Formats: sequence, structure tokens, C-alpha cells
Amino acid sequence: MEPFKNEPLTDFSAAANKQAFEQALKQVAGEIGGEYPLIIGGEEVRSGEFIESTNPCRTTELLGRFHAATVELANRAVEQAEQTFSSWKQTSAKERSDYLFKAAALMRQRKHEFSATMVYEVGKNWIEADADTAEAIDFMEFYARENLRYAQAQPLTEIAGEANEMHYIPLGVTVVIPPWNFPLAILVGMATAALVTGNTVVLKPSSDSPWIAYKFYRLLEEVGLPAGVVNFLPGRGSSVGDTLVNHARTRMIAFTGSKEVGLRINELAAKTNPGQIWIKRIIAEMGGKDSIIVDSDADLEAAVAGVWSSAFGYQGQKCSACSRAIVDATVYDEFVDKLKTKTETIRVGVTDNPENFMGAVINEKAYNSILDYINIGKSEGRLITGGSAAGEGGYFIQPTILIDVDPKARISQEEIFGPVLAVIKARNYDHALEIANNTEYGLTGAVYSNSEDKITRAMTEFHVGNLYFNRKCTGALVGVHPFGGFNMSGTNSKAGGRDYLLLFMQAKLSSKQRR
Ligand code: NAP
Repeated sequence: MEPFKNEPLTDFSAAANKQAFEQALKQVAGEIGGEYPLIIGGEEVRSGEFIESTNPCRTTELLGRFHAATVELANRAVEQAEQTFSSWKQTSAKERSDYLFKAAALMRQRKHEFSATMVYEVGKNWIEADADTAEAIDFMEFYARENLRYAQAQPLTEIAGEANEMHYIPLGVTVVIPPWNFPLAILVGMATAALVTGNTVVLKPSSDSPWIAYKFYRLLEEVGLPAGVVNFLPGRGSSVGDTLVNHARTRMIAFTGSKEVGLRINELAAKTNPGQIWIKRIIAEMGGKDSIIVDSDADLEAAVAGVWSSAFGYQGQKCSACSRAIVDATVYDEFVDKLKTKTETIRVGVTDNPENFMGAVINEKAYNSILDYINIGKSEGRLITGGSAAGEGGYFIQPTILIDVDPKARISQEEIFGPVLAVIKARNYDHALEIANNTEYGLTGAVYSNSEDKITRAMTEFHVGNLYFNRKCTGALVGVHPFGGFNMSGTNSKAGGRDYLLLFMQAKLSSKQRR
């Protein structure tokens, strides 16, 4: 087997790649308007209650109608997953990894179709959508290999007279609850980590992105994954989330999303319900308020490019997005000027047109909330660019920069999850580090500096799960940058890292007396 390597990104400057993507956009556009069932135990189920997936860039474009789970169907999905667990847990690690290798290969073949779906469903531009699909492929390739590694004999200390072995075994029914912002990569990462280790899955996609989730479910069917290993259960978190989390036969919940929902799941999962004979395992990866420090001796061009891309890539809707630039006073004015100029080159509009760098934000609720934060920001800082909606027909918002923001202001502290950057002036490097650590989160961060001493200091003092130097704070790669934060950013599960699959398993020790 080849060692793991990251899936290359598509070079859209090559005419053939551009054409292939345009073709995929056409193909996927031809599928718009479908109606899709839930799938429990391989059986299509139609509840008659719908989640409608719409294009955030063209809000009147209804992409698909998805039959949504009821409480009764949520219970049924958990029960089905439990039933399937009795056979799935007995399959070999190799057999399970092979499903992932096959699914990765098939997704690679149909890469642009998956990416094009995200262009329509969640407003990703081509490059962002392509990176999302590449990451999904990476997760499958990486976890398939990791699963084989964990299936090997585990090293134990020898003792006379005994033959000891330790094996990792699965937990049981895993409820997988992903967000919409990496609607393929994060969903695939959590779901395949669960199934490859021998668990069965109830997959409840985000209500903003059920289409891409459905395509992934069908891909698993195509590679022959047995019915009931993954159960496709679109449904509103507010109506079926508690049922899935509370169910006595749910063994684990793998969640990625907001702090509010993550904390709620954590609290509910801690309660023991009648018939429950375990403590539920939980992964909860949550929000961020990520900072980039620009030091006095930083390469300012590089720092501007890194902040720009981290703040406005995918409309600032990444948990890793830079929402605070903390800039040393000596370079502050120059940095701000350069950043403003670069930001004003951004084109905002429909993302099936590759000339638009930024698309719409995900939905009306996000749109209103981001615009509210911009208004709050106007009183907390000085607006230098952006500051309002950007055009008609979709949830478009201008890339917005507010400068001279107080480190304790609301827009410095609360996750906005949109294209809004607060720029904060630091007296010196000590002050910059103090500001960088002053939120309840601790997900990503970056430092632009040419001083090795300052970089070394940040490595111990800048308290975030993913810290980068002289590069942007987004764009973690599977295997290369295991991902997960500290504090209210979640349980630090380190998705895409060597420890991740352990979270989906328990270890069993068997000790035989030697004769
Ligand atoms: P969200 O509103 O918390 O939703 C996430 C998922 O939880 C969705 O599938 C949602 O379903 C479901 N949900 C909602 N209420 C629930 C409940 N009571 N019980 C169970 N599930 C429930 O977050 P989002 O808006 O999708 O995603 C953005 C957030 O995710 C941001 O805070 C971002 O920072 C965070 N994020 C973190 C990471 C990380 O690795 N740390 C990565 C990506 C995103 P519905 O769609 O049906 O409501």
C-alpha cells in the first residue's frame, strides 16, 4: 500500500480543468429540483415533512426537497444502527478499510461533481469547493490506513508466564452531526472514522446542506457498504437532535458545529437514560475566534495576503477563519492601508462564476446576524471598507474591515462567522500575545514574524490547537495538520491525526497464562 499523501488541488488555470468543472456545474444544474428520501437500513423512507435546500447565491433556486426525520424515524434509525452493529462489528478491519479506499477512488473520479454540488448548495467558490472534496478524499485515505495500523498487534510490556494482547474494538451506534461549512469534508471525516472502526452510523446532515450529504450516502451504497451501516437521516437539529443524543442505545455522538449546540449535546449526553449501560462518548468540535499576530518585523506583504485569505476565504465562514488581526503599533498604519487596498479587489457574487472570489453567506439567519455584528462593529471600531450587503438575489455581504477595535469589544470576542475582520492595535509583542489569548476560544492562530525568539515564545504562550507561522491560519491538511482546538473550541479531537480513530474505539486486553 502506498503511504498516505494529500489529494492534489485542481489547477483551474489549465483550460481542460476549467472546462471539466464547467461541465460538472452543468451536470449538477440538470439535477436541481429533485425530491429525496431518508434511508434507514437501506430502505427509502418518505416522511412527507421537508427540508428545502436552496442556493444561498440565488435564494429563489430550490435545489432539492429532502424528506425530514420525525422523532419516530430518529428512534428507528438508532434502533436500525444498533441492529446492524451486531454484524458490522464482526467484519475485519481490512474489509472496512477497503470500503473507504473504494469510496475515495470513486469520489476522486467524480470529484468535480461533488465540488459543483457545493458551489450551488453552500456558496463555495470553485477553489474552496475543490479543497473541500480533496479533504474528504484525504480523510477516507488517511483513516483507512489508520484503521489498519490500529488493527495490528499493539505493543505491551512482556511478563513471564503470560501471553497478552490488546485489541481495539468499536463502541456501537454513533450519531454523526456535521455543520454545513465543510459539508462534505467534515461529514465524511466523522462518518468514515466511525464506520471504519466498526461502529454503525446515524448521519444527520446539516439542514443547510443535505444534498451533498445525500450524494455521499449514495456513493457509499455504490461501493457496496452494507445497508444499515450508515443511515441517512436529514432532519432539523432542533426537532430530532435531542432524540438522537438522548437515545439509550446511542453509544457515541460525533459533533462539529457551534458552541451553543455542542454544549447542549455535551450536557444531554451526560445524562443516563433508562436502558443505557454506558457513559456516552462525545466529540464536540466547536467555534473559534481566531487571531493573526503581525509583529513589528513581519514581512507585511505576506502578512496582508495571509490575513486577507484567512478572513475572507469562503466568506469568513470557517471555524479557522481569521476574525482578528492583532498588529504591532509600529507597522499598524501601513498594514491597514495595504489590507484595505487588497480587500477592495474582492469580487462578490454567484460562485458558479469563477471570477467571484466571495459568494453569499449560508442563509438568511446568518446574513442578518452578520449584518447586526457589522452594525455593532461600527460603534466599536472604525469601518474602513465594506459594511453592508452586496447586491441582490442572494445573501451577499461585502468583505468588511473594522479597525482600532478594543480587544474586549464584542466583535473581538464573539464568533461572527462571516466576512468581518476586527483589526486591533498592540503596543508590542507581549501585548499582542495577551490579546491573542483573551477569548474563551482556542482554535487556530498565526504569527507573522521574522524573529525566531518570538516564534518560540508563541509556541508555548499562544494557546490554540493549531498555530501557524508566517502563513494563513486556515487550510489545515489531513495528516499534516491534525485539527482541533482548546477551551470552548471543543474537545481537541485532532481530526486528520493519528489519535483520532482512538476516540471511536475502546481497548480490550486479553491475558492468557502460558503453559
Ligand atoms: P450548528 O448550528 O451548531 O449546527 C451544527 C449541526 O448541529 C447541524 O447539523 C445542526 O442541524 C445540528 N443541530 C442543531 N441543533 C441541534 C440540537 N439541538 N441537537 C443536535 N444537533 C443539533 O453549527 P453550523 O452553523 O452548522 O456550523 C457553524 C459552526 O461550526 C461555527 O461555530 C463553526 O466555528 C463551527 N465549526 C467548527 C469546526 C471545528 O473543527 N472546530 C469546524 C467547522 C465548523 P440543523 O442544521 O438541522 O440545525
